Amino acid sequence: QGKGDRGGDRADRATSEQVLDPRTRMLLLQMINRGIVSEIHGCLSTGKEANVYHAMSVSEDEDAAPIHRAVKVYKTSILVFKDRDNKSNNRAMVKLWAEKEMRNLRRIYATGIPCPEPLYLRLHVLAMGFIGSSKGIPAPRLKDVEFSREEAEERYRSLYIELLGYMRVMYQTCRLVHADLSEYNMLYHKKRLYIIDVSQSVEHDHPRSLEFLRMDIKNVSDFFKRKGVDTLPERALFQFIVSPEGPSDFTSENNEMTETIEKLLSAREEGDAEQHESEDVDTAVFRQQYIPQNLEQVYDVERDAEKVRDGMGGDLVYGDLLAAGKSKSKSTPADEAADSESDVSGGVSVSGSDD
Ligand code: ADP
Ligand code: MG
Repeated sequence: QGKGDRGGDRADRATSEQVLDPRTRMLLLQMINRGIVSEIHGCLSTGKEANVYHAMSVSEDEDAAPIHRAVKVYKTSILVFKDRDNKSNNRAMVKLWAEKEMRNLRRIYATGIPCPEPLYLRLHVLAMGFIGSSKGIPAPRLKDVEFSREEAEERYRSLYIELLGYMRVMYQTCRLVHADLSEYNMLYHKKRLYIIDVSQSVEHDHPRSLEFLRMDIKNVSDFFKRKGVDTLPERALFQFIVSPEGPSDFTSENNEMTETIEKLLSAREEGDAEQHESEDVDTAVFRQQYIPQNLEQVYDVERDAEKVRDGMGGDLVYGDLLAAGKSKSKSTPADEAADSESDVSGGVSVSGSDD
């Protein structure tokens, strides 16, 4: 019995749990045959848009420790179309998401921000480094981490500081805004935060990147505030991230990034109650400048499918939170393609929800 056969069995077992289509199974088998992974194990996560599998790369040398991997399989069946003809568009779009995740991961990984190492991409299947123990136990999401009472305060504060640095480097050096950053998309591993799930991340100069950044800042601030961290006013954090002045990578020997953030934090901590109150009011005002929407509204599926059909898929910008809904009134795919390049009119929207 050959190696491929054995791998095939395992791949079959893993995929049958989630009933993957034959094409996806083929891709997983190809990955095994190419030696990217040698065994595909169970599901780490079943999401709306993707499943993530645990895989291993076992070397011929029996003494060598197996290498763990994660394989993210985008679901080609999640997008519901009115007619069945759109099946191939569907695949093309999901492939674009996977490509974006690969490209973004590469950029993030290159700057030294902890994230899975991007390894291999084929259509809608992406293999990456596994974040977890050498025994194959996946790292918990930040949301699920539990610290002991004594250490919690200090731990969360230093994770918060660490994360602010990542957000700034991501903006200044990767030239990206995560656009779905929260305690759900960070893993806690070896006392550090790992950034994951970056298929929807946008270029820093995307017309709506700053709204996404504000949303990321809100999610992060809400989480760390709940954990008792005296977080920066959101506007101040925003300015820290986008300001061209200051450190924009981790290369500085004297840890300039951490020092800069510590300074901002002590300014906050030294403020009196009155100052805090006015900062909180300002944060509320700051938040009002955009309309929070959930991920389901991110993708204007029909519109994007049109672009793919018209061969304009290349400029698709996912994570287009606020465009969903608004773009309905617009007429031709050509207009909309132009829009994604040049629309600045909708930069900041006032929600109109205030009394
Ligand atoms: P989704 O689009 O479904 O949210 P994510 O990229 O956030 O996809 O991955 C879903 C879950 O899978 C994560 O919350 C995490 O628990 C697990 N996961 C994803 N990538 C890895 C990885 N490289 N190593 C370990 N676990 C991972
Ligand atoms: Mg996620």
